[in-house]
Amino acid sequence: MSDTNHTNFGRGTLAVHAGVEPDPSTGAIMTPVYLTSTYVQDGVGNHKGYEYSRTHNPTRSALEKAFAELEHGAHGFSFASGLAAMDTVLKTLQPGDEVISINDLYGGSYRLFTTVFAHYGITFHFVDLSDLDAVKAAMNEHTRMIWVETPTNPMMQITDISAMAQLAKGTNARVVVDNTFASPMLQNPLDQGADMVMHSVTKYLGGHSDVVMGCLVTSDEEWADQIRTLQNSCGAVSGPMDCFLVLRGLKTLHLRMQRHCENGEAIAHHLAKHPAVAKVHWPGFPGHPGHEVAARQMHGFGGMVAFTLADDNMDTAKAVVAQTKLFTLAESLGGVESLIGHPATMTHASIPKEVREKTGVTDGLIRLSVGVEDVKDLLEDLDQALAHATTGRG
Ligand SMILES: *Cc1c(COP(=O)(O)O)cnc(C)c1O
Repeated sequence: MSDTNHTNFGRGTLAVHAGVEPDPSTGAIMTPVYLTSTYVQDGVGNHKGYEYSRTHNPTRSALEKAFAELEHGAHGFSFASGLAAMDTVLKTLQPGDEVISINDLYGGSYRLFTTVFAHYGITFHFVDLSDLDAVKAAMNEHTRMIWVETPTNPMMQITDISAMAQLAKGTNARVVVDNTFASPMLQNPLDQGADMVMHSVTKYLGGHSDVVMGCLVTSDEEWADQIRTLQNSCGAVSGPMDCFLVLRGLKTLHLRMQRHCENGEAIAHHLAKHPAVAKVHWPGFPGHPGHEVAARQMHGFGGMVAFTLADDNMDTAKAVVAQTKLFTLAESLGGVESLIGHPATMTHASIPKEVREKTGVTDGLIRLSVGVEDVKDLLEDLDQALAHATTGRG
């Protein structure tokens, strides 16, 4: 199907077919895992488009095509991790350039910005991207990038992607969206004017908690050329076996996301009524500050739900996460199994306490990556853990 124009297909059809065509030599319906580092050449300069697997590998090429199609872009790139993908985008900047980003950023992204790239002369401004005046005030002639993450991790803040694209229009700034939380099933930033999409493929795209990978998609030819050169020059590519696993995972992305959304919604509503919970952070609620924008730019509210305990403290939070049985305590998200996390000590431990608390990442905040299990079992698990932890029996 690779020569077909896929733009008219629905998202589910794309999930099943994007990037993949039967293997030309055998007809194998699944893309073979090309475990090879090099390719035999018929003569000097006479090869079949593949010379060395850091540069190109057929399994990776199929996946990169799938990424591009899923995100409605022209060029896809696969990397060894989400952070390797980000690292590559940031390397297109020059000393003196400035980046505007959100104040509720994924911890690893914040660390990459502030402990690595800040040392190469790049300045980062962290602002509330829902406040367009604040974004405008942070922009100047050195601004080269607006780095958006929406929804954010873990507070589920929403940024209006087309508003960011409007602000960047006519300036030297380009808009990059970390689309990890939504996946291409729920949100396609390029359609809303973003210049680049990044994913931690580790999460929903892989979907089975067995691969660490990242990707970039863009239709900007000049930027794509730069990314291609950097990908080959720096070499943080994904291996063929991992690419195969993700090609396999993608085929059920639409089904998984549908269930993640249904379960997430049921759990958000249930927790909102629970006496041990002070607040549920989920963009599907009309009272959520980003609800209107999320309803406009997303096709569903996703499977990530965070909540603040009525007892907003470390001990109660630790007791809750120790007590759940189906929701297992682990970093990461987006897999078929439900996970529970404590951002203050886990994903956001690298963010200073006073910085994280400003955005609501308090000691009593708990984050759920709602999986695709039967929702009744998930609700029962949360109820017993909350009861146990808040009656002092924990
Ligand atoms: C996990 C994650 C990353 C980093 O991706 P890795 O694959 O872990 O390197 C970046 N952004 C978000 C929103 C994430 O959840």
